[in-house]
This record gives sequence, C-alpha cells and structure tokens, in this order.
Amino acid sequence: MNFDDLLQDAKELCDLRPDGWTCDPLRDVVKLAEETGEVAECMVKSRKTKEDLGEELSDVMVVIGVIALRAGINLNDVCPKKQEKRVQKIVKRFHGGVYPVEAGCTHQKI
Ligand SMILES: [Mg+2]
Repeated sequence: MNFDDLLQDAKELCDLRPDGWTCDPLRDVVKLAEETGEVAECMVKSRKTKEDLGEELSDVMVVIGVIALRAGINLNDVCPKKQEKRVQKIVKRFHGGVYPVEAGCTHQKI
C-alpha cells in the first residue's frame, strides 16, 4: 500500500457515508485524537493484541488520509521532502553534519 492507496481508501469512506464521514475538518482532528488514543490503549493494556494495535494504526492512517484528502495535500509529494528535513536535522544534531554510512539510508544528500 502506498499513499495513493491510502487516499483512495479515505475517499471511499467519505463517499460511502451520506454524511461525508466526519463532516468537517475539526471533527477529523477529533477523530484522529480518538484513534491515536486507541493506539495508546493497545500499547498499555495487556489484553490488547498485536493485531488490535495494527488495526488501530490503520485507523490512524486512514484518518490522516481523510485530512490530507480534504486539504488537497499529496502525501506522495510531502512525505519525502519532510523526511529529508528530519534526516538533515538529526544528522546535524547527532552526527556533526556527516551522514553515518552505516545507517544505510537513502537520504545521504546533506
Ligand atoms: Mg479505531
């Protein structure tokens, strides 16, 4: 699954619900908090399984897809650029600006 699939899943959910699922951006954020809380619950309650955690993480992802869809954000464009910024920040902070070869990452253009 890639971000295109995620956005398609989000669109499908919005299209299937007559109310547009959460109806507005603020409720999308509330839904994201709800699903994030369910992830936390899976991580602290022993009766929750790895499968439960996976399902809740999937819920978080689809809500992110809905938010991106409504905002017209292409996650395929945004995520690689943001990853590059995160890598640069960490390399600068923890490795003196020199990318450690053993990290084996593709973001070696610092
Ligand atoms: Mg859930």
